[in-house]
Formats: sequence, C-alpha cells, structure tokens
Amino acid sequence: MLTSIAGKSVIVTGGSKGIGRGIAEIFAAQGATVMIAARGEEAAQLAVAEIEAAGGTAAYHLTDVADWDSVQEMVAATVSAFGGVDILCANAGIFPQVKMVDMSPDDWDHVMSVNLKSSFLCVKACIPLFEKAGKGRVVLTSSITGPVTGYPGWAHYGASKSGQLGFLKTAAMELARYNTTINAVLPGNIMTEGLAGLGQDYLDAMAASIPLKRLGAVADIGNAALFFASDEAGYVTGQQIVVDGGQILPESLDAIGEI
Ligand code: NAP
Repeated sequence: MLTSIAGKSVIVTGGSKGIGRGIAEIFAAQGATVMIAARGEEAAQLAVAEIEAAGGTAAYHLTDVADWDSVQEMVAATVSAFGGVDILCANAGIFPQVKMVDMSPDDWDHVMSVNLKSSFLCVKACIPLFEKAGKGRVVLTSSITGPVTGYPGWAHYGASKSGQLGFLKTAAMELARYNTTINAVLPGNIMTEGLAGLGQDYLDAMAASIPLKRLGAVADIGNAALFFASDEAGYVTGQQIVVDGGQILPESLDAIGEI
C-alpha cells in the first residue's frame, strides 16, 4: 500500500485521451487534483466531466506542449487552480507514421518538438515550483519504440522517445538539488485513441506478438506512473520501467509460437 497522494496537484499533459487520460483517472481516483493539458477542448472537457462524475477533482487548460509560452501558462493556471504543482506527468505525444523516404525535415522537427522538446519545456517550467516546495515528482511517458525496438515509419518518433531518456539522466541530476525525482515509463502497445488510428491489422499483429497476449490498458501505465509519483519511490530517479506485457522479450517469431 503506497502512501496516499490525496490532495497533491498533478499536471497530466495529453490527459484528455489515451494513456494521459488513464494516468489522470488513476491519480484522481487516489484523491489528487488533476490539471489536464491538451489542445482540443471537447475531449478535455469530457475527461474532466468524467473524472468529476467519478468523485474526483480535475480541470483543464488548453495547452500546446511544444510552445514555451503555452507551457508556462499551463503551469501558471495549475498554480492558480490548485495552489502548486507536486507532480508533472509529461505524457503528450504524437506518432505519425511515415518512412524516411517520404519524411520531410519539417515532419522530423514537428515530432521532435511535440515529443522531446516538450519534456524539457514542461520540466523547466515546473523547476521554480519544485525549488520553492523543496520536493517534486516528474514522470515522462517514453516508449519501447526507439529506446528498445524499431518500427518502419517511426525513425523520428523512435529518436524522440530515446531522446527523452537521454534528457532524463541529466535532468535527474539537476533536479536532485530540489529533492525532485524524474523517471520514465516505456509503454508497449496500449489501447488508446491514437493506437486505434493505426488500424485493426496493426492492432492484431501487435497483440499476437505480446507474450501476455493482449494490448495494454491505459491503467497499466497509470499504475506505473503512480508508483514513480509516490513517497515510496523517493529514492528512485533517472530510471525507466518497460510496461509492455513482455513484448520486447521474444528473440524470434518462433519463440512467441512456443508459449
Ligand atoms: P493519443 O490517444 O493520441 O492521445 C494523445 C494526447 O496528447 C491527447 O490528449 C492529445 O490531445 C495530446 N496532445 C497531442 N499533441 C499535443 C500538443 N502539441 N500539446 C498538448 N497536447 C497534445 O496518444 P496515446 O496513445 O495516449 O499516447 C500518449 C503518449 O504515450 C505519447 O507520448 C506516446 O508516444 C506514448 N506511447 C503510446 C503508446 C501506445 O501504445 N498508445 C505506446 C508507447 C508510447 P490534443 O490532440 O487535443 O492536443
């Protein structure tokens, strides 16, 4: 049993859909107050309404995580709504699939900005609050794609997700002086709106390649994030956990057939 995070203020970027929404729901169910940051208002409103209907406390702020001014406004809005930021879940990300032969330099830059630069911007904007509070928690959503595996069409995406882990290690050292930890969750294939957009053939192929024989649920990632955000994880920093149903384990396609 982890010490309660009730009353803590949490920002979840990309909290309006998919994994971010799963993180937001898990934290709200534990009594945290959750600021959902995303660009689309309809999904953000719906996420807040459903958290509140379940007895939780949430608000939303329309944010573009790739934009420094917008990220600073997100943090200011959270301080104004909830009095501070105890936990930052930098989760928002995109995964457009395009092979390098068709990928433009702008495609590359866009994915890097939304997935990687955003991690830096969100952490940077929270540093003064962590310093003032003398504590803090950051959880990044990375991926198995890039840090562990490759997949055609995701050269930029994989690079951005590996880049988050490079950022993580030095960030952990710099944040230590504020008694703040930063860790990363590396999801496998988790059933979300974004993943559904890749099509049923992709989903079927992925499910078949996972030893636990199912796609992950958003709560699987939310629970890992909850551990990193807990008091009990206070001595864990700069680390990563793969949550993928064992997908990265098989050495060959035959190995999957054996189980
Ligand atoms: P999703 O269902 O497409 O949801 C993405 C969320 O991010 C939405 O709330 C979206 O809202 C928000 N977002 C996108 N661009 C944004 C921006 N520029 N500024 C602010 N918010 C933005 O995606 P998901 O599958 O949950 O993925 C979430 C994270 O998990 C990503 O970092 C992804 O790389 C990672 N991940 C996912 C999987 C998987 O299997 N699903 C696996 C590994 C890693 P708006 O569009 O309204 O802004």
